[in-house]
Amino acid sequence: MIRLEGATLLTPEHEISDGVLVLDGARIAYAGSRDGAPPAAPGDDVSRLPGRVIIPGFVNTHTHLAMQILRGVADDVPLMPWLEEHVWPIEARMTPEDILQGTRLALLEAVAAGVTCVNDMYGSMDRVAEAIGESGIRGMITQGLIGAQDPERDSLRRGVALYERWQGAMDNRLQVALGPHAPYTCPPDYLREVADYATALHAPVHIHLAETRGETEELLRQGTTPAQVLTSSGLAREHVVAAHGVFPAEGDIARLASLDVGVAHCPISNLKLGCGFAPTRRLREAGVPVGIGSDGAASANVLDPFLSMKAAAWIAKGTSEDAAALTAKDVLRMATREGAMALGWQELGALEQGYLADVVVVDLRSYRVQPVFDPFSAIVYTATAQQVERVYASGRLVYSEGRHLVVDAAEVLSSARASAQRLAERPLL
Ligand SMILES: [Zn+2]
Repeated sequence: MIRLEGATLLTPEHEISDGVLVLDGARIAYAGSRDGAPPAAPGDDVSRLPGRVIIPGFVNTHTHLAMQILRGVADDVPLMPWLEEHVWPIEARMTPEDILQGTRLALLEAVAAGVTCVNDMYGSMDRVAEAIGESGIRGMITQGLIGAQDPERDSLRRGVALYERWQGAMDNRLQVALGPHAPYTCPPDYLREVADYATALHAPVHIHLAETRGETEELLRQGTTPAQVLTSSGLAREHVVAAHGVFPAEGDIARLASLDVGVAHCPISNLKLGCGFAPTRRLREAGVPVGIGSDGAASANVLDPFLSMKAAAWIAKGTSEDAAALTAKDVLRMATREGAMALGWQELGALEQGYLADVVVVDLRSYRVQPVFDPFSAIVYTATAQQVERVYASGRLVYSEGRHLVVDAAEVLSSARASAQRLAERPLL
């Protein structure tokens, strides 16, 4: 067993100084005070970690990892021209190999920042599954479905086949959702077909919803709302992860709260694309679980959950003119346990016996963070990915003191650069 002693165990519900955390395979066997801890057994792998904080691994509730390879290819452009003139033309040239390399590159950054679970939507998802498998972390994967471009339903069949191939694979590290891209790219009859498959498979659904003002206004013109699309199509018969939720229509927050829906709040992407601010406080007060996501690096440029947490807190406080709108504890919960709930993934996101052994050791001893009066404040408002010392995923040490332990980071980097160079057809620095 792995035994971590002397750190502060930190979740929004608990703060246990000089704690003991015992990992037994993929599960947490003990998390608590030194007094109640079981004795160490011969052969245990014991670490003393004073001055550190241990938190649950971060859950990135919405991303497109392969887009790492397009990071910085087009910035400072609004969403629709960004997609139509920049992203889609390059994506049309992307091969499954490019998608594999982009995803591997993204996972280097994510894991080094303490992310142990990703919710990914893209194409060539077998390659994405392969990359997540290699990284050691867990993920929910989704074939992105553009209904308007799927007249023969080939993509939809691929999405269903993905579920049949990978659901529960790799010791349950992989889950699969069905992924109609968005109401504006999938006509109503297509959404109904996806919903029928989701119901038959009992699969969750991952969709972009109410990302822009224009998108919600268009649905209102059609006599419906973002939340009503989920019910009228039947998608909400299963658990739904709704990415963004920036512009719920009048009455939508109550509708979402009455459904099994989690929202993936992507503050950096929303800010950078000039989309607006999701009403996280009102969603959470209504009872909708709100997790934090990065979105793809082509829009957000970074996958660092520490930056996303800061952005989420700042937006909520600034837009409501209330410094208590989202507290440090609220934001840490959103980035961990509430993110797991937003994905519908139980047994994830807590430091408790029986939960999955995805944990992050954060070193708060640096002058970059000290002095630390309140570890919640230090983690959310001050720390960055630089303070991540160790990452355990499914009870396995995958990252420690700046080094990736299960993948060859130098090889990933050079393969990804070669793909990026070829795709963008212009020189890299
Ligand atoms: Zn997205």
